Amino acid sequence: FVHQAAVAIENAQLIKDLETARNQVKEYVEQLELKVEERTRELVESEKKYSTLVEHANDGVVIVQDGRLSFFNRRLEEMTGYSRKEVVGKPFVDMLPKSEVELVKSRYEKRMKGKPVPAIYETKFLSKNGDLVPIEVNAAVIDYGGKPADLIVIRDISERKRMEEKLLKAEKLAAIGELAASVGHDLRNPLTGISGAVYYLKMKLATEMNKQSRDMLKLIEENVEYSNKIVNDLLDFSKEIYLQRSRVSIKSMIEETLAKMRIPNKVEVVDLTGRLPKVFLDAGQMKRVFENLIKNAVEAMPNGGKLEIRSERVNGGLKITFHDTGVGIPPQNLQRLFTPLFTTKAKGVGLGLAICKRIIDAHGGTINIKSKEGIGTHVTVTIPIR
Ligand code: ADP
Ligand code: MG
Repeated sequence: FVHQAAVAIENAQLIKDLETARNQVKEYVEQLELKVEERTRELVESEKKYSTLVEHANDGVVIVQDGRLSFFNRRLEEMTGYSRKEVVGKPFVDMLPKSEVELVKSRYEKRMKGKPVPAIYETKFLSKNGDLVPIEVNAAVIDYGGKPADLIVIRDISERKRMEEKLLKAEKLAAIGELAASVGHDLRNPLTGISGAVYYLKMKLATEMNKQSRDMLKLIEENVEYSNKIVNDLLDFSKEIYLQRSRVSIKSMIEETLAKMRIPNKVEVVDLTGRLPKVFLDAGQMKRVFENLIKNAVEAMPNGGKLEIRSERVNGGLKITFHDTGVGIPPQNLQRLFTPLFTTKAKGVGLGLAICKRIIDAHGGTINIKSKEGIGTHVTVTIPIR
């Protein structure tokens, strides 16, 4: 019995020890679990931090490995129109327009070989809908999953390019304006001189001249008139616009403009404008706009046709339309109509519409041109009533 009791006590002790040991182990495991959990959380956090950084970066981020796209961030999906599923695994050159492939590819290959190439440069990519997007890339070699890869940060520079172009255009315009002003001034005096001399010859030799000489003098006169027109256009185009407004009706302005123009018999002009409402504008300058537009319409109908002029009230303003049945304008020219010196005419100066636009802009109005080749042209001018 004593022996049995001893065994029992021993067993009890053993069980107790075991229990303590188990508890210790349990505690240890729990601690370990906690640690693992914490570490995992930290890892997830930091991974999240990095991926948000990359995902929400305002620049495109792409990783190229072995010539293929292996990472593509969200901003790039927005920029290119492709989802990452569509492009990951594809050769990166697929994203480039033909003109850029050689440059980008050779830089990539050299960079991966450790050769010195510019890391930052401008190029373009081809978006899913076929647009060419100007970009600035900044590339660096990194270790990605144990293998070298090219990490490329891509910035959309469309806006910057647009601004650069705008600035260039503004500078060009200013230069043209200056040139126009000085040429205009310099030509005005000699032209007046030629006019005076022609007048003198006509008076002095009126009776003695034969027909051929008279025709020659007439030719000089006509060409002086034409040159004067160019000079006036140049001066008009280059001078600052000051408006002297008064209340006028469109109809009276159109009537006055037509009265002093020579309209060929083959061209029918139908004035459907209304007397009301009156608008508050610079009548003299606005008549020059109408004259230019009517002249363009007439010149577009060398074999005759019809020009309809209408006016219509639109909210806060008046819309005046000039609708001709002329030759029309090819689509590739539509964008350039208002560019100074753009003309398709042998004797054109190409300042008519540029001047129209300046005058209409000064009135706070708009001018729009729609056209179908071989059918005709619609010019719409809107001007605020006040
Ligand atoms: P210009 O009359 O001296 O050529 P404009 O600035 O008035 O200069 O017009 C520029 C160009 O726009 C013209 O040469 C012509 O090709 C085109 N254009 C303007 N108005 C019309 C129109 N109503 N129909 C057809 N083409 C037009
Ligand atoms: Mg013209």
